[in-house]
Amino acid sequence: MERIIGIDLGTTNSLGATVYEEGPEVIEASGESTITPSVLSLTDKGWLVGEEALNDSISNPDKTIFSVKRLMGRSLKDLENIINELPYKIIEGQRQLIKIKIGEKEYTPQELSAEILKKIKMNAESVLGETIKKAVITVPAYFDDAQRQATRDAARFAGMEVARIINEPTAAAIAYGLDEKKDGYIAVYDLGGGTFDISILKLSGKIFKVIATHGNTQLGGDDFDSLVANEIKKLIQKTHPKLKLNDPESKQILKKTAESIKKELSSSTETSYSMKLPHTELTFDGNFKLEEFENLIDPMIEQTLESCSYVLREANLAADKINDVVLVGGSTIIPKVRKRIESFFQKPPHVAIDPYKVVAMGAGIQGHLLAGGRRDFLLLDVIPLALGIETLGGTFSKIITGNTTIPAEESETFTTNVDNQTSIEVNIYQGERELIKHCRALGQFKLRGIPPMKSGYPLVQVQFRVDANGILTVTANEKRSGEKAEIEVIPFHGLTQFEIENIIEASYENAVDDFNQRQLIEFCQTAERIFRGIEQTWEVAENTLSKDDRDEILKQVESVRQSMQGHDAQVLKTELDVLGNLTRPLADNAMGKTILTELKDNENMIRK
Ligand code: ADP
Ligand code: MG
Repeated sequence: MERIIGIDLGTTNSLGATVYEEGPEVIEASGESTITPSVLSLTDKGWLVGEEALNDSISNPDKTIFSVKRLMGRSLKDLENIINELPYKIIEGQRQLIKIKIGEKEYTPQELSAEILKKIKMNAESVLGETIKKAVITVPAYFDDAQRQATRDAARFAGMEVARIINEPTAAAIAYGLDEKKDGYIAVYDLGGGTFDISILKLSGKIFKVIATHGNTQLGGDDFDSLVANEIKKLIQKTHPKLKLNDPESKQILKKTAESIKKELSSSTETSYSMKLPHTELTFDGNFKLEEFENLIDPMIEQTLESCSYVLREANLAADKINDVVLVGGSTIIPKVRKRIESFFQKPPHVAIDPYKVVAMGAGIQGHLLAGGRRDFLLLDVIPLALGIETLGGTFSKIITGNTTIPAEESETFTTNVDNQTSIEVNIYQGERELIKHCRALGQFKLRGIPPMKSGYPLVQVQFRVDANGILTVTANEKRSGEKAEIEVIPFHGLTQFEIENIIEASYENAVDDFNQRQLIEFCQTAERIFRGIEQTWEVAENTLSKDDRDEILKQVESVRQSMQGHDAQVLKTELDVLGNLTRPLADNAMGKTILTELKDNENMIRK
């Protein structure tokens, strides 16, 4: 069977995918990013493509080409509106199609796109160890014949035959296996970095047809970044009224900070940032709240929903006639975007597949089917890695174990470690190791408003719920006061099958070490508690124990302290047992009881 790979040739990013024995997956060399930025940079030695071109773009701005997809198959007239914003020179070529002029040389958009495709082809060849001759390539649903033909030409220049050109929304639907479902209507909502599209697909007899599409080629995540950047700018100028922040460097730093705030807020309710102010020695620190971000972007989300209403009218359908909603594009990771879509279509959208990868994955599956492959792989229906939270000492407490089928729900009760703790930070992780430093952070939130209580007294129930779409909702509920807080995250975005396998393998390899380290942390905590207990009951000890007995306790405390510096949990345990025996007489005393209870109950302490 000759392999046919799938390629998502995007405006900002491009990537390839194929079907492996384990199922469909993007093509990536281990440890390297899957995604090739759709950027080119011309140097003395030829073209740089992707990350390298992006890095080069600062020093080589007038020879760097972004967004070539916007130029494919277009005439000067088609580009009237955007031509002035493009940083490179456009001239008229053959058949009224445009060319890009760099220095003395002229290039067609097809030739430039071919460079991106070559890069993806070469990468696939080195990862798969075979020559790639054929590909399925995706294009936006609104691409006309000229634009589709230009895409075919680009593939030919790159040395590949196009097995089929398919629409991006169709690819996304295929990735979710919707072609296997009964006939009906599917809405594909695609919000990327610079563009927004909504398409309505009609499925009949396993064939998809785009029956309506609408969008905005100037709306996307970049605009969210600008809104956030503006807010930060205003704040900075409040404290530093003299700073203009209008130069390119300031703009760049503002934008970068804004984008990282935005991404952070997809998995937490508040985030702090620290920004170096250009041309000064100063840094600016601030906090950004999720609520504030959501209010800022809401009018833009509203605009996308107006497009949704528009296509439904075009297709002559009511929202409740849509059987499935599919999300595409990095900006659909934003929880508020998902919520608004869910309430608009009155059903939860499919989100289990990373919205960055879903189009390429669908193209890869289509290629596999065209090559004569079978569709016998499973889509995400189990939780591949354990999910849990950080507990005292940086340990990872698993709440849902790996390999659980979804939907799934588990909860566990935790308590505080410090007296009068009025808030608790819940840090969510996924992984198969014992310490959070070896796991993957998913999100974090704070449960506030807990009335002051003695440590160990609050009862914080932490519940993990993964729904059929793979969305994880974590709820923390302090039972005595009724205080509650929750957050939603998508655990498996950005994780490939290979990464998951590597993570699981690493957990086997490190099982013994990890177990020892975890025990060491836990025994150290026990030791600290016993020390505190001894301190609290020392007066009693002075009245009831002989000087020799007391000296022996103090000597043993020293030995415990030494083992705490060591690396062997078992040695520490032995020393602790000796200390436990020596202090037993104290435990018979009313005050000393605390020591015993501490010894028993050192586990479920949540981090402060
Ligand atoms: P395009 O279709 O234009 O190539 P993508 O689908 O690659 O765009 O999406 C890129 C956009 O997604 C960028 O604006 C990026 O900031 C945004 N994005 C990526 N990850 C997140 C996240 N975790 N939360 C919010 N936005 C994100
Ligand atoms: Mg896209």
